[in-house]
Amino acid sequence: MEGDGEYNDGHRAFVQAFMARGTMTLQEAKPVLASILTVQEGEPVDAVQITQEIFDSYLSAAQEALSRLDYDIKNTMHQVTKKRVWAIVNTTSDAMTQLATVHSAEEIAFVKRVLDAMFDKYNSPRLEAMFLDSMQYHKCCRAPAAAPAAEAMDDEGEENQPQQSQQLRGLKSSEAEAMMQSMVNQGWFERSAKGFFSLSPRALMELRSWLTDTYNDPDAEPGEWQRIKFCEACKDIVTVGQRCAERDCNVRLHDHCEEAFWRTKREKKCPKCATPWDGKHFVGERAVTETEAYRRSKGHRGSRAGRSSGLMEQIMAPDEEEEEEEEQEEQEQLEDE
Ligand SMILES: [Zn+2]
Ligand SMILES: [Zn+2]
Repeated sequence: MEGDGEYNDGHRAFVQAFMARGTMTLQEAKPVLASILTVQEGEPVDAVQITQEIFDSYLSAAQEALSRLDYDIKNTMHQVTKKRVWAIVNTTSDAMTQLATVHSAEEIAFVKRVLDAMFDKYNSPRLEAMFLDSMQYHKCCRAPAAAPAAEAMDDEGEENQPQQSQQLRGLKSSEAEAMMQSMVNQGWFERSAKGFFSLSPRALMELRSWLTDTYNDPDAEPGEWQRIKFCEACKDIVTVGQRCAERDCNVRLHDHCEEAFWRTKREKKCPKCATPWDGKHFVGERAVTETEAYRRSKGHRGSRAGRSSGLMEQIMAPDEEEEEEEEQEEQEQLEDE
């Protein structure tokens, strides 16, 4: 096979370590590559000697080897730590399909409801949170009677089986907790210091087109508000970052992208609608934690989990109009039962 002369045990060991983790930063790669090189060179190599260049050479060897197995290596900047993250992504099946191979239909339907909450319910022009606290994901336990989640995912041309989807009962609290933990352990979700759940960089890379297909309106007019939005600078999805102060404008920027972006601009104004960019309109946790209501309550009541959960819901709760629609839907579902 071509390339075999260069592809050696060291590369193989690196691919194995990478696959076991799913993602890697330079910092995480350093000790791994140091041990590999120590064996190969027969003398101690220290982690501090591992440069981005060495890492890159192993990444490109791994990429070539993995491409034969329908995997690719992609990278993105972590929106919070601002460290570059490399991930092994499947090029033939999306993350939801992959999850379905190791989780039950109930668990997958729960994850779909969690994603709906992140990207639909708690992601509106008024407030783009795109994360959930534990009270909010517990609300996703119960399967709706008609189980639209199962239908929405089933677009592979297989017939929907209403009987089967009606049997979905949802997850118990403890099962939902275990599933969320499992999603964190597998690298799909991340749990922040404040205990909020959001999609990991790996999930954002793997689910990029799935999220767009699922939550954006393909028939929207150009410039119309969409749920999934991309950074004006790097074009990756923004779930944590800054937004245009104009409520219906789609322009978003990552915190780690803004400096270089504004350096090339004459004025700090939205490139689409020319609204002055104040850097104080946020996407993600800060959309909630920077609100007056959140700060006031933290000052007065401390951060007791139960109370802050109720508060989160108060701040993040969809607009009244949206809520009415939902109540109506629930009512209809009850009548169907
Ligand atoms: Zn960006
Ligand atoms: Zn704008």
